[in-house]
Amino acid sequence: MTLTGTLLIGQQSVAGIREAIRAIDPATNQMLEPAYPGGTFEQVEQACALAWTAFDSFRETSLEARASFLECIATQIEALGDALIDRAVLESGLPRARLLGERGRTCGQLRTFARTVRAGEWLDVRVDNAQPERQPLPRADLRQRQVPLGPVAVFGASNFPLAFSVAGGDTASALAAGCPVVVKAHSAHPGTSELVGHAVARAVKQCNLPEGVFSLLYGSGREVGIALVCDERIKAVGFTGSRSGGIALCQAAQARSEPIPVYAEMSSINPVFLFPAALEARGEALAQGFVASLNQGAGQFCTNPGLVIARQGADLDRFIASAAQHIWQSPAQTMLTPGIFSAYRSGVEALGNNPNADIAAAGKADDGPNQCQTHLFVTRAQDFLGDPSLQAEVFGSASLVVTCADDAEIRQVAEHLEGQLTATLHLDDADLDDARALLPVLERKAGRLLVNGWPTGVEVCDAMVHGGPFPATSDPRGTSVGTAAIQRFLRPVCYQDFPDSLLPVALQHGNPLHLRRLLDGQREA
Ligand code: NAP
Repeated sequence: MTLTGTLLIGQQSVAGIREAIRAIDPATNQMLEPAYPGGTFEQVEQACALAWTAFDSFRETSLEARASFLECIATQIEALGDALIDRAVLESGLPRARLLGERGRTCGQLRTFARTVRAGEWLDVRVDNAQPERQPLPRADLRQRQVPLGPVAVFGASNFPLAFSVAGGDTASALAAGCPVVVKAHSAHPGTSELVGHAVARAVKQCNLPEGVFSLLYGSGREVGIALVCDERIKAVGFTGSRSGGIALCQAAQARSEPIPVYAEMSSINPVFLFPAALEARGEALAQGFVASLNQGAGQFCTNPGLVIARQGADLDRFIASAAQHIWQSPAQTMLTPGIFSAYRSGVEALGNNPNADIAAAGKADDGPNQCQTHLFVTRAQDFLGDPSLQAEVFGSASLVVTCADDAEIRQVAEHLEGQLTATLHLDDADLDDARALLPVLERKAGRLLVNGWPTGVEVCDAMVHGGPFPATSDPRGTSVGTAAIQRFLRPVCYQDFPDSLLPVALQHGNPLHLRRLLDGQREA
């Protein structure tokens, strides 16, 4: 498919007229064709109006029809073949193998959501049958199911141009819930977005769905993005990106006459706790695993291990020395965009100039553009506690070791942390009591707790939580990865004393969808 630089409003390719964005190959700093003129406010309105028109029929599609639609999107994305991967490599600087894996994850998660939709558990059907004889008052017949919120605005993420962008996790979970989606493409990968957007639009057509189920807009976040969030027909927002961007969208959503939920995944430094017995027994292996995780994808993962916390002493010194050895040998890697590289360089410079932090190691430099040079810094617990700038996210392969005098200081540091996507514990049997004592703090801080692993690598499955308290996300009650992500776009409705013929099929007395309901307080087999 030839890239056209046009917006996709339903099935129509339409030219924008506002200031154009152009992708940049971060490996060379070359501008890429074509230009993508930004959408106008009228075009944002058209996309939202179409989405609203599509909503009532899309939300009542059968479970089978909606599941088939998600599978069809996956098939259409696969049919794009090498053209998609070639463009994504150019626009992101990510290695081809990584993008092939990411395409697999993208299509895999669409198919996983298809299975979830078919199973119907997400409808969470609850039935309390009428009790006309109950004293002193009879009970009405009460039936509850989940319904979709309405059209959802999705902001694609820069760091997952496939798996968290146009047809990524937010889009897949919103469509699975029955919500039409209007995507604001990330300006770093408009060509990748156009290819995937057309794949989704083809699936809409092939499945005979109303065209407003999906639209794709380009343009500035501050203009097109805010206009989209403020449109009264948009009922929820999914976002992954910077803390400032996420907060701006939350504020815009709250300022509407009808405020709406924003599920923004923003900033996390993913603390890793090294307990004494583990550090003594396998400090070298821990250092190797840590640096491998730190370097993955030039550190441009939301779950990058940006903070290591441990008791001071010879074992921690050995860990730092060993990590430094690995870092000195780490090659520089191309970052996603010149903007992300510049933010990384500023973050590393700020740490380098901070009297409360010492540099422990820097990776190999490279004179190519936008190269991330791995960095490791060290600080003492008391300095960390007194300097909030030390827990600012530096997006890229940079991490900070916090050395603590004793367990009490480790706990103080843990208590002092902002909300996180993950917290990791490296421990041996002798550390279990120490770890147990820290768990209540960490459960308050993070969405996923790991033992003896590394936080990079997020499985798409039923039990995954990719979320956490602010600033990891704007709403700690949900997850943006895994099948539970569908719940962000649903709300419960109760039907009281409805005749069977007027009830939604999921709630009818004969249970024609064979759902496992909560029936008069008992879960059905
Ligand atoms: P970003 O700057 O937040 O951009 C993400 C999206 O939000 C883009 O579509 C952008 O529009 C829009 N946007 C940004 N600020 C906005 C505002 N004030 N109002 C309305 N829309 C706005 O994120 P990024 O470009 O992907 O990366 C920049 C930084 O974000 C990184 O350096 C890193 O610190 C952080 N980040 C964190 C994660 C994570 O998972 N923790 C992931 C990715 C990035 P435009 O098209 O106009 O830019």
